[in-house]
Amino acid sequence: MNTSIAHAGIPCRDLPISSKADILSKQKHAKYVYTFGNGKADGDRSMKILLGGKGAGLAEMSALGLPVPPGFTITTQVCTWFTNNVGEYPPNLDVQVTESIAAIEKITATRFGDPLRPLLLSVRSGSRVSMPGMMDTVLNLGLNDRTVQGLASDSEDPRFAYDSYRRFIQMFADVVMGVPHHHFEHILDQHKRARSFHLDTDLSAQDWQQIISQYKIKIHSEAGHDFPQDPRTQLWHSIAAVFRSWSNARAVTYRKLQNIPNDWGTAVNVQAMVFGNMGESSATGVAFTRNPATGDNALYGEYLVNAQGEDVVAGIRTPQQITIAGKVANRSNLPAMEEVMPSMFHELNAIRHTLEEHYSDMQDIEFTIQRGKLYILQTRAGKRTARAALKIACEMVEEGLITEDEAVMRVDPSSLNQLLHPRIDPTAERQVLAEGLAASPGAASGHIVFSADEAERLAQSGEKAILCRTETSPEDIHGMNAAVGIVTSRGGMTSHAAVVARGMGRACVAGASNVNIDYNANIMEVGGKILQEGDIVTIDGGSGEVMLGEVPTIEPELSGDFSRLMGWADKRRKLGVLVNADTPEDCRKALEFGAEGIGLCRTEHMFFEGVRIVAMREMILATNVAERRKALRKVLPMQRDDFAEIFRIMKGRPVTIRLLDPPLHEFLPHTEAEMHVVSAAAGLSLDYVREQVIRLRETNPMLGHRGCRVGITYPEVYEMQTRAILEAGVIIGRETGVNVEVEIMVPFVGVEAELKIVKECIDKVAKEVLVNGEKVHYVVGTMIELPRAALNAGKIAKQAHFFSFGTNDLTQMTFGLSRDDAGSFLPTYEKRGIIEADPFVHLDEEGVGELMQLAVERGRKTRADLKVCVCGEHGGDAKSVIFCHKLGLDCVSCSPYRVPIARLAAAHAALSSGL
Ligand code: ADP
Ligand code: MG
Ligand code: MG
Repeated sequence: MNTSIAHAGIPCRDLPISSKADILSKQKHAKYVYTFGNGKADGDRSMKILLGGKGAGLAEMSALGLPVPPGFTITTQVCTWFTNNVGEYPPNLDVQVTESIAAIEKITATRFGDPLRPLLLSVRSGSRVSMPGMMDTVLNLGLNDRTVQGLASDSEDPRFAYDSYRRFIQMFADVVMGVPHHHFEHILDQHKRARSFHLDTDLSAQDWQQIISQYKIKIHSEAGHDFPQDPRTQLWHSIAAVFRSWSNARAVTYRKLQNIPNDWGTAVNVQAMVFGNMGESSATGVAFTRNPATGDNALYGEYLVNAQGEDVVAGIRTPQQITIAGKVANRSNLPAMEEVMPSMFHELNAIRHTLEEHYSDMQDIEFTIQRGKLYILQTRAGKRTARAALKIACEMVEEGLITEDEAVMRVDPSSLNQLLHPRIDPTAERQVLAEGLAASPGAASGHIVFSADEAERLAQSGEKAILCRTETSPEDIHGMNAAVGIVTSRGGMTSHAAVVARGMGRACVAGASNVNIDYNANIMEVGGKILQEGDIVTIDGGSGEVMLGEVPTIEPELSGDFSRLMGWADKRRKLGVLVNADTPEDCRKALEFGAEGIGLCRTEHMFFEGVRIVAMREMILATNVAERRKALRKVLPMQRDDFAEIFRIMKGRPVTIRLLDPPLHEFLPHTEAEMHVVSAAAGLSLDYVREQVIRLRETNPMLGHRGCRVGITYPEVYEMQTRAILEAGVIIGRETGVNVEVEIMVPFVGVEAELKIVKECIDKVAKEVLVNGEKVHYVVGTMIELPRAALNAGKIAKQAHFFSFGTNDLTQMTFGLSRDDAGSFLPTYEKRGIIEADPFVHLDEEGVGELMQLAVERGRKTRADLKVCVCGEHGGDAKSVIFCHKLGLDCVSCSPYRVPIARLAAAHAALSSGL
């Protein structure tokens, strides 16, 4: 016996009935089949869970009186039953199916299996959410050697009848009998070649008949079994195949990736066929009720004359545009439907309005025209670009179709990324050299350079540079700033390059592992190609691609729609949205994007520039406190100026400044030349400097002498920074008359006593600087980035006015996972499902999230008005922002270009949790 037929789980003709008597009695009256057609339907659009998206849509459209071929939906419950009971069906299903077929026969005046006027069916999958291309469809079911003759004479078109029959055999063999498609393609190709035909439409009825006999022979030899002639057998096998396709490897993987539960199941839609392949007045196509790329309020789509179903997507023939406008935009020379079938076009356009008014959303529809009569076969909410989503949402509010809140929910926060950065012209040709992580969105072209200095030099001479490094470090900041884009061959989504690039809004591709940079030879090798310094590449930080030469890009234009929608979002969100910014440029950008203040101003970048790094090195290498103070005095005025400029721009909005955080190790001079400079500046011997460098080098700097530990061992450093901050505040307070609000944030605290000591030091300086009446208000708080700090939050809150979760470090420390080294194994972990997602991208709610929850509870128990924020990269990740809302945080802080994402995500969180 043939195996692929046998494992359909049903012997021919009979339907197995479950033997379990108890289930039988309970389920006797259960309804498994919902019919639709002729202006009526058992189901409606609210029944997606039971009927699947397609089934619910067909029912709804049918009840609306739209021209939908009649049919019925077998519920998703039956799929679950079928899966759990190894291919069996619930009792009574066969009766319900038989009755429903009779209903279709009545409407269509045909009969299933009738040799003169045969009813033909389509059998289609359809789950609760769309799973494109994952499951199977069988069309033209019910044809056999006898009914095909009836179809030929009834339609007076034998060519059409035999074309449909061969399509059915091909699909059935593939989906049900496991005989792959390519066998049939091969037979068809050979036949065409022998006859010198180019198009399928060149074949006559006789051609198709010959091909059909060859198909049947092939099936017999491949499956060891004949193609079944009995329509009921065909039907039940196809139903079983669609249910089975819910569990095929492709669908299972897709569900895992999309987080779709396995027990949802698919429905099966059985529907009368309509034929787009009945000659020149027939056609089939897909359409969007508005343009899914631009959002323009006009029908948009493609169609094919004399074709069926899959032909449009299969790419065998070039589809034609539906509208004349679409034809012009696509530079197509094939006639538009609007021109050649104007009445069909107008009917379709009217249906577009009906559907939009009914669903209050842009729809993606499938249609077929059979000899001048239009049928709609599917409708669902259409996928769209961010630009289109914004425009459609705003216009639908104007049209009164949706509310402002609904409009807010219609735009996916993460998709805003597409809007805020320049992007590759989608129509441009490109040659991709390498692919890395899409670390910071945006597209940029420029000359490749391998050092920060060279990037700066090039920028000064008015050229564009793409800085290519194995990895970047704080010393490269000036070059990263000067470059238009950054490529690294090592490092992950939170590597230095990625974080800094996102902060600066530079395009960045990180961890492009097939890029090999040779700093000595000033070349880089990419996939066998050698690029010299100065060669031009284009990078797309939104896709992770590195491309050869200059690929044209387009600038973003922030439309009026953007600010309107963001305004509606702001009305709803509960979370404050702040920015991580430490340069005037970032601050300005952030205000433009709607940030309410600075949630994290890092101060280390301010120490790496030019003469400052030398002073810092002097400070570290100093032999006593007096020398350290002397070195720090050189840095003080520069820091004060930096802070003053930031306060000036922020105009009284709160500014959270973090005291020095990175390991001292990072400031050590590396090269002989650097040691020379420091020894001269500090008046120390070169030998002494060398010795100190060796002594201060750390094995594990990230867990070493950093954060408040430095502030405790070298209090002069934090004293100087506090002084710079507060003096800057005094200056700007006087200059503007606006109160300066500053929050001084202490990093890397694990023990209450650490914060206590540092806070005393800050308060002492403040007493000196803030004499009565100064327009500066400051508070002291801490980062929560060590698990110990989270657990001890109750105690730490005694010293802290606010907490800010440094979720990058907290993730590192909780997992024991170095973000700079995770790239070598994390992808495997994700692939194998050990972790759901990169915890540096989406907050690990289960582990890190629980620590955060504890810290919030314990901290607020000590101090009810404790302000709690997040300032890690997660503050700009939509999913993590929603989690922060649930935790009851006060605010999130993220890099400037992600501020709009956070605002929108916060609104989504508030709206979906009913505020
Ligand atoms: P998918 O979910 O993969 O799009 P569908 O169930 O929508 O699968 O079926 C694929 C195609 O088959 C449809 O685009 C449509 O053109 C064609 N089709 C489905 N049902 C019918 C029908 N009753 N009459 C004619 N064509 C149909
Ligand atoms: Mg479809
Ligand atoms: Mg940190």
